[in-house]
Amino acid sequence: MSIKKRYFLILLPILLGVGFALWVRLKFEFFPIIHLQVDAASLGLVAGGIGSIAVMLIFVHQNALDRARAAASKQAALERRQFLQRLDHELKNPLSTIKMGLSYLGARLGDALPEDPSTGEFQEFIGQIDSQTQRIARLISDLRKLSDLEVRPLDRIAVDLNQLLEQLVEEVQKNPETAVRQVSLLLPNVPWQLPEIDADEDLIFLALRNLLENALKYTDEAGSIEVRAYENYRQLIVEVADNGMGIPESEIEHIWSELYRAENARGMPGNGLGLSIVRTIIRRHAGEVSVRSRNGQGSVFSISLPK
Ligand code: ADP
Repeated sequence: MSIKKRYFLILLPILLGVGFALWVRLKFEFFPIIHLQVDAASLGLVAGGIGSIAVMLIFVHQNALDRARAAASKQAALERRQFLQRLDHELKNPLSTIKMGLSYLGARLGDALPEDPSTGEFQEFIGQIDSQTQRIARLISDLRKLSDLEVRPLDRIAVDLNQLLEQLVEEVQKNPETAVRQVSLLLPNVPWQLPEIDADEDLIFLALRNLLENALKYTDEAGSIEVRAYENYRQLIVEVADNGMGIPESEIEHIWSELYRAENARGMPGNGLGLSIVRTIIRRHAGEVSVRSRNGQGSVFSISLPK
């Protein structure tokens, strides 16, 4: 509730009391027989005063509750962060031992006789263990990144979104793996370009890159992707749209949750943290994220940032 509304609610009972007192005085003063009503006027005033104090006490209590809730969630975030730091630290050694063991086994297998029929099978298993190990390492590092993002101070500078988006799309066009993909960038030029925003450039770039990487991942090679940006009175809006596989309707509301993956995406690489990272970054900039999607037709992910 806004401060103005609160003050209004605090003053309302006392104003009603004053109004009541005036009304009683004007209406009944001339009738001596109801002279007693003058006391009713004072009573109205006192009741109004007590009402105002009561409303004020309710707000004070509410403020204390809000502060306690904010402190509890800050503490929970801190504990989560410490836990993830410890987990990251504890898993580092076992993971690097597994990696070393795998490369040793790979090298020994390379020396094995090529006609040995089990060599290919072993190599396949080693490849699988290696990719799953990398998955765990990525998951831990992304979880840690996410919890760091919740508290890390923003490094704000004047960011030119025009340049940032051009750079992002250029990255895709220069990367040999994605160069063939159809990604178009639509930026306003008339009557003016997008204005600069005060933001953490690296984080905004990371958020936009996550959205574009998802569009590339969940759209087949023949599909199209559009990155478009525009402004309204208060915000800059960037949309990443694709005509890929889309998201089943019942799952759309869950996709921003940590580790959640829609059913149609589970066979594809990923860990379900990319969008949580996007949302955390955008919310830290006082912006909002949203998605429109139709299963089998495509999706439009939007971020809006205050100007
Ligand atoms: P990841 O892609 O690693 O699974 P994200 O957090 O980035 O994790 O996305 C969460 C889920 O949202 C994905 O698993 C997928 O189900 C859905 N999703 C995200 N982007 C798209 C997209 N462009 N098209 C279809 N589904 C998407």
